[in-house]
This record gives sequence, structure tokens and C-alpha cells, in this order.
Amino acid sequence: METADAVVIGGGVIGTSIAYRLAEHRKVILLERGELGAQTSGSCDKAIFLQSKKPGFPIKLAQASREIYETLEEELDTSIEFKKNGGMIVIESEAHLASMKKFVKERNKAGLDVKLLDDKEVHAWQPGLSGDILGAAWCAQDAEVNPLLLSQAFAQAAKRRGADIRPHTEATDILCERGKVVGVQTRHGKITTGTIVNAAGPFASEIADMAGVGLTIMPRRGAVLITEKLEPLIHGNILCSQYIAAKHAASDTADAPPYGIGLSLGQTESGNLLIGGSREFKGFDKSVGPEVLSAIARHAVRIAPVLKNVKLIRSMVGFRPFTGDGLPIIDKAKEVEGFFIAAGHEGDGIALAPITGHLVASLIDNKEQYKDLLKPLQLDRLQAV
Ligand SMILES: Cc1cc2nc3c(=O)[nH]c(=O)nc-3n(C[C@H](O)[C@H](O)[C@H](O)COP(=O)(O)OP(=O)(O)OC[C@H]3O[C@@H](n4cnc5c(N)ncnc54)[C@H](O)[C@@H]3O)c2cc1C
Repeated sequence: METADAVVIGGGVIGTSIAYRLAEHRKVILLERGELGAQTSGSCDKAIFLQSKKPGFPIKLAQASREIYETLEEELDTSIEFKKNGGMIVIESEAHLASMKKFVKERNKAGLDVKLLDDKEVHAWQPGLSGDILGAAWCAQDAEVNPLLLSQAFAQAAKRRGADIRPHTEATDILCERGKVVGVQTRHGKITTGTIVNAAGPFASEIADMAGVGLTIMPRRGAVLITEKLEPLIHGNILCSQYIAAKHAASDTADAPPYGIGLSLGQTESGNLLIGGSREFKGFDKSVGPEVLSAIARHAVRIAPVLKNVKLIRSMVGFRPFTGDGLPIIDKAKEVEGFFIAAGHEGDGIALAPITGHLVASLIDNKEQYKDLLKPLQLDRLQAV
């Protein structure tokens, strides 16, 4: 009979980050039903934005994660293409100008270095943008990383600490006795363990069901267009003010932009542009229609006419794990001892992956260190609304 001190279910940026931290002091097995990082964590943008988070706790959490990024490459001993290129939220319409001025003030009050740039400053920094852009919020602390490398780097570093990382190994049941976790059934056999971490992102509700734990995490679909490799066309990552409105809307409301579209624009180290994106509730349906893809392209070209003649090579679709209040759940289940949840990072999982590993390790060890960050992430906050 195989045994482990802890089993992590899910091999995206969140599960691999957790496996790495837990493996420091334990025998860890990570189960991933497909390839590592091939679901949401491999179908997303690469921005580590601070300014896009809400003031108060969400910014505090993102800052804690961003601090870990400062030395993460060195710690994991491999390139994750972490770059401190800053981030910009462009203002497209007079209607957004007043709210974005307030947005900048609130971020400054929360301790972020965000500046309001006028149209000339924006064009001097990003000449590819439309002459109609009125200004932008600029944050030098915003950064970027390659999410594909991030999952792999965490997994490799976890392996070096002795973790057993198992792609193509699906968890099919959680085994409980007298209200306690005693093991997990996989397609390739049973593992005895007293600790399971559900890090299955948008699929976390299915895993919670196996343990008889109530958890509602919905897939919020997003599509991104990918271009051919190009010379550097933009500096850092760019969002638009409509993106902020779509991100913080809790549902597809009548005044939301069609398909939840808001520009997210970034360029990979190899030169491909990532042009996003949409936000829709369509279950796990990956078949995004041409009307959504062309709406993303039209919106992007309006803001950045330099994109008009670039060649698209493909698109990708991912499912943001949506909890309803923009924050993940990092907590232990009350119903079943030994069952932990770390899921629901919605559109912020790349930014929040590093802190999530620390939070879960601290939670399992019942340490004091991160109690203030864990409290607002408890499961019952959602059951209470
Ligand atoms: C279009 C788009 C753009 C985004 N842009 C950004 C961005 O710029 N910055 C940012 O911070 N965030 C961004 N995000 C959000 C970010 O991608 C997610 O929050 C993050 O990837 C979630 O990671 P995860 O590990 O929780 O989920 P996933 O990566 O989906 O990992 C969960 C894993 O669990 C596995 N699994 C499920 N069931 C089982 C089972 N029974 N047994 C074993 N394994 C199982 C799945 O196969 C999957 O690999 C974006 C998301 C999208 C969709």
C-alpha cells in the first residue's frame, strides 16, 4: 500500500506551488489527470498585476505574492521569465476618466506606486496605441512571468525536494472514515494519506464532491488570441479600463461589455503577442465562436492600431476558477478532517501562485505566520453571502 504525508490534486500553478512548499518537510504526491500546467495555467496571460486588484485585502494579498516573485527565480533555480516591466491600464473614453482618477487615488492610498499619465506620456511610452487614448494608470510594480515555465519550475523544484509528481494520474475518489480523510483512489491505485489538498482550479467542485464537501467554483471562460513572433511592439502589459469593469463584475450583467471583453495585451519573450480577452459563463464548453474572437480582435485594434496587420496564429481558451467575490478559497473543510482547499483564484492565479503555496503550508502546520492573510480566504465567507 502506497502512503504519503500529503496528496495534492491538481498540477497547475497552484497545485505545483503547494507541492513545492509542502515537500520541504513531508512526503508529497501530486496527482494531475493530464499534463502539468495544461489547463487554465497553460491557457492564460502572463501578467502579475497589482493595480488591477481591489484596494484593501486583495492588494495586500497580491503584494505578499509579488514580494516572493522578487527572489523566486533564484529560489527555483531556473528561468521563469519574470520581468519587472510595469503595467498600464489605458483609458479609452471620457466616461472612464473620472472613475480611473479615483482608481489611481485609491491605489496610492493602498500603498501602490500608480501614476496617472496623460495622453502624451502614454504615446511616448507606447507609440502603438491609438491617438484617441486619453491617458493611463501606470504601475511600475506590475510585472510578468511565463505561466508555462512557472508550473514546470515549481514541479521540478518540488521533485528535487523528494515530491512525487504524477501527470496522467486522475484522482477518482476521496476516501474518508469517521469524518477524516484516509486516502485517495486514483486510476492507478490507492494512496493512503491523512492530508489532501484540493488544488483543482475550475474543477475543484468535482473533487470536493468526492469528499462530501460543499464547494461552488464556476468556470469563467476566457479566450486569448496569439500572434506570430514579432519585434518588441509594446512595453510591459496593457489592460484597458473596460477590462477592469469586466473583471470586477460578478456576473454577466446587462451593462457588461459583450462577451465580457476587455483588452489585455502582452508580448512573450519569444515575441508572440497575447491579445485578450473575454469573460463568459458557458460551463466547460471550449468552443468559442468566431463572433467572440473577432470582437476581441476589433476591440484590441481600436485601442492599439499597430495590431491591425499582425498575423494571428491561434487562439487559446481557459476557465478561470470563479468564486464570486474575486478571492480564492484557502481553507480546511469543516466537514472532513484533513481535506484542504486551495482553489478559485479566478483571473489572478498567476499573480497569487507563490503566496498560495506558503499559505497552504502554514494552514496545514497551523502556524501563526499567515493567519491574517488566511482569515479572509475562509470557505464560510461565501456560504454567508
Ligand atoms: C484567458 C485567461 C487569462 C488569464 N490571465 C491571467 C493573468 O494575466 N494573470 C493572472 O494572475 N491570472 C490570469 N488568469 C488566471 C489564471 O490562469 C488562473 O487563476 C490559474 O491558472 C488557476 O490555476 P489552478 O492551478 O488553480 O488551475 P488549473 O491550471 O486549471 O489546474 C487545475 C488542475 O487540476 C487538474 N485536475 C482536475 N481534476 C483532477 C482530478 N480528478 N485528478 C487529478 N487532477 C485533476 C486539471 O487537469 C488541472 O491541470 C487568466 C485566466 C484565463 C482563463
